[in-house]
Amino acid sequence: MSSRRDFLQKITLSTAVLPFIRWKEPTKEESVTNKVSDDKVLRVAIMGLGSYGNIVARAMQSCKRAKITGVISGTPSKIKDWQSRYNIPDKNCYNYENFDAIKDNPDIDAVYVITPNALHRDQVIRVAKAGKHAICEKPMALNAKEGQQMIDACKKANVKLLVGYRMHFEPKTLEVIRMRKDGELGKIMFFDGLSGFVIGDPTQWRLNKQLAGGGSMMDIGIYSINGARYMVGEEPIWVTAQETKTNKEKFKEGVDETIQFQLGFPSGAVASCLSSYNIRYLDRFFLSGDKGFAELSPANGYGPIRGRTNKGELTQPHVTHQTLQMDEMAAIIFDGKQPVVPVDGEEGLKDLKIIDAIYEAVKKGKRIDLKL
Ligand code: NDP
Repeated sequence: MSSRRDFLQKITLSTAVLPFIRWKEPTKEESVTNKVSDDKVLRVAIMGLGSYGNIVARAMQSCKRAKITGVISGTPSKIKDWQSRYNIPDKNCYNYENFDAIKDNPDIDAVYVITPNALHRDQVIRVAKAGKHAICEKPMALNAKEGQQMIDACKKANVKLLVGYRMHFEPKTLEVIRMRKDGELGKIMFFDGLSGFVIGDPTQWRLNKQLAGGGSMMDIGIYSINGARYMVGEEPIWVTAQETKTNKEKFKEGVDETIQFQLGFPSGAVASCLSSYNIRYLDRFFLSGDKGFAELSPANGYGPIRGRTNKGELTQPHVTHQTLQMDEMAAIIFDGKQPVVPVDGEEGLKDLKIIDAIYEAVKKGKRIDLKL
């Protein structure tokens, strides 16, 4: 059975046999001019040592500007394992009850929250109150109201809130955005986003409304929502949506199995998207303008992403997404670097507002206007 992990890792597995491609090492001369070794390193505590936490941690071993210095976990055996793997001292290990004490820990600059969706809001607010920067996995929260509370808490504490939108740093994705911005695709008319896989174990938290906040839309459909925005380059002004459920036992009330949705943009461009926990092989973005097109397929897996446009194949090298993301986030936090596509709380909030509107559109069976 194809699983979420298959969806994200299928392509990664094929790269395991390829030589690991990293960005070019700077020459001695470049190192001096760019002062690479002097850049401040972001010291991160990972909260939630689950499947994605492990992927992030492995990728961070290749980071130049980010390093794991702490863990927050409810499972003592995982803490022990991570301590030996990543050389983490006892004083930098916390559980969910005592992690507020992180405020007195000078070894930790930021906490990366990688727990089930419903926990993000309270955990990020506690991280902010402890005076540490918060990096939070997608979806940032369960709804826009929670998202706003997180933004407010981080503002009040004067810490950064960033969302783990790894695709915002992915080279082929950025090349399509560059082409669109430079007018090479002409006037954008249409975006098609397909995001889905067949989910396995019916007892997992992703199928529990209390922990997941919904179903496929919260987990995988959000890639098409977010992608529609950065591919088209506008904020949508309306949404329509339709839900299909074929298995009410597995996908209980409030847990969406499949939702089709459409977004309308101020220019007149439209997006047609599909989010599913019960359809295989859905990982494709297609953008059409009056002078050209761009296709990414796979568009959101762990890579390599493949892409082509009316001009030919995209050839930008694959870089492990989470390595790139964490190095870029260090630059955002310490140097005030502005990424091409934002990864801040406001960006996460926009997706949550669209998710709220999609669920409302399904419920009411009518078009919902959006103000982002
Ligand atoms: P997992 O279930 O694999 O891991 C979640 C971890 O959270 C657990 O291992 C556990 O760690 C901790 N946890 C704390 N409370 C609970 C609870 N009540 N139930 C279950 N786990 C709990 O999930 P993932 O790692 O796949 O997903 C975590 C987050 O990351 C989600 O928000 C998801 O959307 C996001 N994600 C993002 C991806 C991306 O590409 N950006 C890819 C995959 C996931 P411990 O035992 O250490 O406390």
